Amino acid sequence: MRVIEPLYAEILRRNQGETEFHQAVREVLETLDPVLERRPELVDARIVERTCEPERQLIFRVPWSDDSGDIHVNRGFRVEFSSALGPYKGGLRFHPSVNLGIVKFLGFEQIFKNALTGLPIGGGKGGADFDPKGRSDAEIMRFCQSFMTELHRHLGEYTDVPAGDIGVGGREIGYMFGQYKRITNRYESGVLTGKGLGWGGAQARTEATGYGCVLFTAEMLRTRGESLDGQRVAVSGSGNVAIYAIEKAQQLGATVVTCSDSSGYVVDEKGIDLALLKEVKEVRRGRISEYAELRGSHVKFVPGTGLWNVPCDVALPCATQNELHETDALALVRNGVKAVAEGANMPTTPEAVRVFQEAGVAFGPGKAANAGGVATSALEMQQNASRDSWTFAHTEERLAEIMRHIHDSCYTTAERYGTPGNYVVGANIAGFELVADAMLAQGLI
Ligand code: GLU
Repeated sequence: MRVIEPLYAEILRRNQGETEFHQAVREVLETLDPVLERRPELVDARIVERTCEPERQLIFRVPWSDDSGDIHVNRGFRVEFSSALGPYKGGLRFHPSVNLGIVKFLGFEQIFKNALTGLPIGGGKGGADFDPKGRSDAEIMRFCQSFMTELHRHLGEYTDVPAGDIGVGGREIGYMFGQYKRITNRYESGVLTGKGLGWGGAQARTEATGYGCVLFTAEMLRTRGESLDGQRVAVSGSGNVAIYAIEKAQQLGATVVTCSDSSGYVVDEKGIDLALLKEVKEVRRGRISEYAELRGSHVKFVPGTGLWNVPCDVALPCATQNELHETDALALVRNGVKAVAEGANMPTTPEAVRVFQEAGVAFGPGKAANAGGVATSALEMQQNASRDSWTFAHTEERLAEIMRHIHDSCYTTAERYGTPGNYVVGANIAGFELVADAMLAQGLI
């Protein structure tokens, strides 16, 4: 942080109280000294300062009425962080914890993640502090329509292309697309990704983040002469990312013994029954304890946290930010974990990352390991632009190629900068250089 320390102090001063944003920035800046020392032109052009300041930040009111006619007011956000490599691209999160600092941390990570995919997408993120839990379909629709009524004027297939994140899946994208189409009178397929398969959505987009995370893990294991076959895997979460990480891990011969939601976790030594998990989570939208009740007496449901104490060879945090702490990392290392890959955005605290790195565990940061979702969104945009639609097998093959490419560029960049095997350094520098070179070429904007 030699070059970077005064700059970080200025970021703290200018973005007060935004703790997750500070954390995300610090994690990147800490790794950039070697590249800034080698390339003074990036320092002269103030590339880091410009990258840390979003191009545009939107905050807006989202009023809506519930099924009994009571009126609610939420706060909506869209942070258009960087358009150096393409239109702003990144998901929308609907969760009561959403605030400007959370959206900025997610948007900042998105810049480098999107760059790493090698596809032409800039970085952005948005959402609202709306809690979808327990809301009817009609309430969700009215909220999405109100949200899009304001947001639509900032979007466009060449401008800003949102997608899903926590609390935003196919249903919400459908309602938002409908409202965008109604207001603009344009069938602009490429304005949102994660659409339904019958109306412009891409095959394998739903599966892509979880699948990609496991494919990245397989690549990390391969460099150590290992594979996922026969490994015990722990996955946190049971949303879209977790479910499809479990599916791909099982396809590659691993046994997934645990997963969770915000109420607790289940331990299933026979291996998670994925069809049952999908039924509980995707169809009934129920709690993880229902999985334990329906699966049989061999399954243990444990309320609260503690999932990382379950012994495993591979850990995939796929729930949310800062869910895996130093004590969890120490427990995982004690139990012999070999690889950890982040399916969620920034789920591992900086102290926990350090524990893994010092213990020689292969650690794949979210920017690289969970980039399969947004990469497949870019493939969806590509299909929309050419009015085409690809098969599942073809899309999945493209995804696998992209994950290999991301792995290899992180791996070789880490080696080039004298920290072999450090995927955090590799991902940050590889992503940063792509964005920085485009910014240099495009002048002072
Ligand atoms: N929300 C996802 C992410 O964190 C996907 C974003 C997208 O597909 O645009 O990368």
